[in-house]
Amino acid sequence: MNEISKVVRRILKIIKNESRNIYNNLIEKFRFSLTFKITLVYALKTLSILLFLGLCIVGGFIGLSVWNAQEHMNRNFQLVSDYLGEGNSYSESKIKRLAQLDALSITIFNQKGNVLYTTEEHPKGIDFYGSEDLVGAWDIGRNYIIAKDNMVAGNDPASYHSGYAMILKGDIQWNYMPAQIQIKNRMQKEITTLVIILLVLLVISILQLLDVILSGSKSSKKILRPIEVMTRTVENITVNELNTRLDISGSQDELKDLARTFNGMLDGIQQSYEKQNQFVSDASHELRTPIAVIQGYTDLLHRWGKEDENILDESLVAIKEESNNMKDLVEKLLFLARGDKETQKVEKKDFYLNDLIDVIIKETKMIDDAHEIISSDNAKVLIHADPRLIKESLRIFIDNSIKYTPSGGSITIESTLKENEIQISIEDTGIGIGQKDLPHIFSRFYRVDKSRTKGIDGAGGTGLGLAIASWIIQMHNGKIRVESQIDVGTKIIINLPNTSCKLPTI
Ligand code: ADP
Repeated sequence: MNEISKVVRRILKIIKNESRNIYNNLIEKFRFSLTFKITLVYALKTLSILLFLGLCIVGGFIGLSVWNAQEHMNRNFQLVSDYLGEGNSYSESKIKRLAQLDALSITIFNQKGNVLYTTEEHPKGIDFYGSEDLVGAWDIGRNYIIAKDNMVAGNDPASYHSGYAMILKGDIQWNYMPAQIQIKNRMQKEITTLVIILLVLLVISILQLLDVILSGSKSSKKILRPIEVMTRTVENITVNELNTRLDISGSQDELKDLARTFNGMLDGIQQSYEKQNQFVSDASHELRTPIAVIQGYTDLLHRWGKEDENILDESLVAIKEESNNMKDLVEKLLFLARGDKETQKVEKKDFYLNDLIDVIIKETKMIDDAHEIISSDNAKVLIHADPRLIKESLRIFIDNSIKYTPSGGSITIESTLKENEIQISIEDTGIGIGQKDLPHIFSRFYRVDKSRTKGIDGAGGTGLGLAIASWIIQMHNGKIRVESQIDVGTKIIINLPNTSCKLPTI
């Protein structure tokens, strides 16, 4: 029994390995659809289950038949022994009847192997297997052997066909002389039943396999249809068709999650593409004005300016101013582009913020005498940040306060150290910003209605200053708040977290 289960296990292992090898080879060589692969896996799985079941059924049936047949033959052997032991003259006919009833062939040999009695119809069916002589036979224990057998085919005693039969050998008394009996069981009924079982199993297996292949490919095609739709939709997405989205209605599953993620990604791409487009068109628009002014003055110079000194002076001043504006704009654009590409250098180091603010205040007082610059509170704090960038951002806020505060107004610059952060505020008494404009002032190129700044010298700019300042503060994990009231003033509050600031060591 142990041997049989070992053999079965080995066969199953070989089948499993071979089918895996064949599957892998096929998958490597050819491009198969997912439907085909899923169907193939399930078909192979079903096939191996069917094979295993078939082997169990066939093995069980063979085992049971052999055991049953041996019981039968053993009983017949006992009966024959009994008949011959009784020694009556009817024993031969009793043996013949027994053989007919149980479809057995019984032959009795003397010690030399000569036939004393046989129920066999054809001499070809008689073979003597002595105790040693087991050529062409297989000893299966308990006096049973499996041996080659010849059997009469049909009604013609001359024709016969070969097969195998199970034979029980035993010692017996024939006319009070030691003899040997061989009871042969050709197991025809069992073989016929086995063939029928095999045929039924084969038909069931084929039908089951066909069902798995057909229903498997149909349902996997149905399940995978969204992928097909996705592929077609994605193929049609181009730069000009970025608003196309995958359908995410219907049942919720992993493919829907994928489609939702993909749509989210497309939203992001579309947004940044549109932003980029807007940026390029705004930048071109901004550059057009200084270029047009420069062109206008060069035309003027070309026509009359060479002779007229006044025109020459005016033109040169204007051209210089516009080219400065252009340089300023291009530098700001480059800064933002580097920020977007994450190539803008941020070189952080430890420095005293109060020292930096002092320098800025000094510089501001030097270039602006139209406003009162106040700084009553400038906390001594060592911070870890990029001093060049922090200075640039503070300059932008202060320059705005100067630009949008009429002469005579005041600008208060303060820095205070709170428990978790450092707070810098720049407050002016200028024209203020309307509530509807407040959410947009950090957007690139956004400028509040120009009519509001009429009459203020130097007001107006590129609309990029606050976008740059907010990028810098973000790079330092800080936050900006704006409080503003029309005709009262504006207060910019910057908070830098304590990760970027330290208490002074002295
Ligand atoms: P600009 O170069 O036009 O100043 P910014 O990005 O620096 O561009 O500012 C955007 C807009 O926010 C400005 O056009 C201005 O209208 C408004 N603004 C910024 N700071 C102030 C302020 N302190 N007072 C009033 N308005 C301001």
